[in-house]
Amino acid sequence: MNVEQALEWMKLFNEKIQEQKDYLSELDTPIGDGDHGGNMARGMAAVMENLEGKQFETSSDVFKLVSMQLLSKVGGASGPLYGSAFMGMAKADSHSKLEETLQSGLDMIVKRGKAEVGEKTMVDVWTPVIAALSAGQLTHEIIDEVVNATKDLLATKGRASYVGERSLGHIDPGSFSSGLLFTALLETGVV
Ligand code: ADP
Ligand code: MG
Repeated sequence: MNVEQALEWMKLFNEKIQEQKDYLSELDTPIGDGDHGGNMARGMAAVMENLEGKQFETSSDVFKLVSMQLLSKVGGASGPLYGSAFMGMAKADSHSKLEETLQSGLDMIVKRGKAEVGEKTMVDVWTPVIAALSAGQLTHEIIDEVVNATKDLLATKGRASYVGERSLGHIDPGSFSSGLLFTALLETGVV
């Protein structure tokens, strides 16, 4: 991915996060503490502010700045997790295939959060999205499908695990925001 594409991706992701801020917090209310929209909106606003007017040599440099902003400006689980994801993507070579870059991000999410597939976290979106991308089959429909599928999962990691069975029937907020990230990626046209 080149610098322009990385910047366009972050711009579109930010727009979606700001648009869906209230809905993200609404999703986080029955199974969490209702702060996911606020967390992500604050983090991405800081990212956009800091990206402005800077020159970057590679997409890795863009991701590094995104990571630092998310790590320092976002509380809760999602700041360190998304911060780690972008740190992982920054470590991938700028010439890597897109799926390899995203896999480096997912590896860091898992390293930090220790969640496996099926525990109702963003890992349940990142994993199938990367698989679909590798197969040349990533579409908006697939993204919506995997995000919605988190509804039926029982949370066993993160704050949502505290409500046990009551986590069933609700979309995972971090999975929804990850869906926005990948929808934004498709819209940049890099896939
Ligand atoms: P907090 O849970 O601290 O209030 P947020 O509400 O901002 O933080 O983010 C919650 C989201 O973080 C969840 O919806 C889930 O997708 C993600 N999450 C929580 N714990 C983990 C984990 N261990 N691994 C991966 N993702 C996680
Ligand atoms: Mg929360």
